[in-house]
Amino acid sequence: MLTKTPTDTVAATAPQPIIAGPPELEAGGVLTVDLAAVAMNWRALMQRSVPADCAAVIKADAYGCGLEPVAVELARAGCRTFFVANIAEARRLRAVAPEAVIYVLNGIAPGSAELFAAIDARPVIGDIAEFVEWDAFRRASGWQGGAALHFDTGMNRLGLSVDEAPALAARVKVPDHGISLVMSHLACADTKEHPLNNRQIESFRQLRYMFRGVTASLANSSGIFLGPAAQCDMVRPGAALFGINPTPGAQNLMEPTVTLKGRILQIRPVERGESVGYGATWTASRPSRIAIVSVGYGDGYFRVTGNFPAGKKGAAIPAQAVVANKRCPLVGRISMDLIALDITAVTEGAVRRGDYATLIGDGISVDEFATWCGTIGYEVLTNLGHRYHRVWLR
Ligand SMILES: *Cc1c(COP(=O)(O)O)cnc(C)c1O
Repeated sequence: MLTKTPTDTVAATAPQPIIAGPPELEAGGVLTVDLAAVAMNWRALMQRSVPADCAAVIKADAYGCGLEPVAVELARAGCRTFFVANIAEARRLRAVAPEAVIYVLNGIAPGSAELFAAIDARPVIGDIAEFVEWDAFRRASGWQGGAALHFDTGMNRLGLSVDEAPALAARVKVPDHGISLVMSHLACADTKEHPLNNRQIESFRQLRYMFRGVTASLANSSGIFLGPAAQCDMVRPGAALFGINPTPGAQNLMEPTVTLKGRILQIRPVERGESVGYGATWTASRPSRIAIVSVGYGDGYFRVTGNFPAGKKGAAIPAQAVVANKRCPLVGRISMDLIALDITAVTEGAVRRGDYATLIGDGISVDEFATWCGTIGYEVLTNLGHRYHRVWLR
């Protein structure tokens, strides 16, 4: 008969990981999201913003990290207010977070007002026509739910103009006006010294004055690090929750949350002078050992990173992966399902067919990976493919 060991007891009481996607053995790689680290990042941002409240922006499938598991974990950590991009995301969120306050950043598409009421989501209104439509819907239906007013203070993306504020401010004087949030968005928060930051903070201060009594929100992840003048009543971090550095150029105070590993399918010797991959863009300058890994651009591994001309030393730094604790460079072009790593520096026998190469994690941050691809961590995360075996650690 089997008896319970102490480790069994621990395993039985610790929360089990959430698993999705194909089984590990059937997938080319494993994507792990550390939910405890996401919650830790939220708490750290919350502490930095006190007394402001800390919401969470989980648009685009929580920056590719999985909307449902991330939302449940953050709700458990104490997060009450969430921002998503559209109604479809809001509906997914409502299904797992019955108590959450949900704001929809992209506002009301014509004819969609009733969809907000159906799931108790709040539109972020960024245009007078939207405001009129929402107002008409509330009158006709008797719906009491809230909405945000989004003002443009210098980004020129979405938002009501500041000139429209006085007329709308009169509106929040009437009882049951239904405006639960006034917000704006910073264009340059990740560049602390950019003059637009102070212009936007000042412009938003005027808006807060006009709408005093209504909760005010300006700061995204990087905005939190601009200090209390930007933090207002509520902060709206997204990227920093997932470990993207909110203070580029300075130390990253966030915990990494994502690990991506690709399976090594084959290790092949390549003679000096032989080339590897499509277009023969890389040629071995010494007898080499090449590991072929089952992750490619079809999995969100940006093809552009393998795309520098053969033999030319451009500004581009080749991407790297960690194999047996060693950083190894990618060689040749990225295929749809495969990449090649030069593992000549790894001791022979230290790595075998079936082992994993770490593509993100083990010291490779999402931000570092992004610089290899000529992009930002946001795009790396939101591009993570859906063929991986996915694991959410709790
Ligand atoms: C995406 C977004 C955020 C979150 O920005 P991060 O830089 O990811 O923290 C906040 N507010 C608005 C309006 C957004 O679109």
